Amino acid sequence: MKKGGVNGFMQRGLHALSRPQRVGRITLCGAPVYWRWSLIVMFLAHGFMSRRHPEMWPIISVSWLIIVGVHEYGHAFVARRFGYRVSAITFGAFHGSCVYQAPEYEAHEVAVAWGGVAAQAVLFVVPFVLHTALGRMPPPPVRLLLVELSYVNLFVLVLNLLPIRGFDGHTAWRAIPLG
Ligand SMILES: [Zn+2]
Repeated sequence: MKKGGVNGFMQRGLHALSRPQRVGRITLCGAPVYWRWSLIVMFLAHGFMSRRHPEMWPIISVSWLIIVGVHEYGHAFVARRFGYRVSAITFGAFHGSCVYQAPEYEAHEVAVAWGGVAAQAVLFVVPFVLHTALGRMPPPPVRLLLVELSYVNLFVLVLNLLPIRGFDGHTAWRAIPLG
């Protein structure tokens, strides 16, 4: 059914808003990068979280982009290793997504799911070591960055491994037959 009138116009408008938007010509692991409008909600939440120290706002938001970017890069990297075409990497409020060709084998799908987790684990190492070694020496913004990329990153990693539909854990644990 063709939609017309004000209702159809609004629906088309909402549809356009909900569609991921391309980020210039930026690519990640060879795939075009998109962002969702929901990301703005996340940035505003970061602003609220840092309302007493507004100078920390960009650090929290940039850290989030790094965590999601590294995670999706991990998915894309493994998918490409298996020879799949990666068509989009999207940044959203609570998670990103990596769209790649339908996997031929379940083992590949499982490996791609672990790719995102593994990339986050790699990201964790250096900031964790620096934060532990330097203690309170670096200025507060640097300390926050190190905490974001180590502990917050680790928290997101663990949360994402919960065996819940929509989380990577839903796919990743298929590698281990439970029961
Ligand atoms: Zn993922």
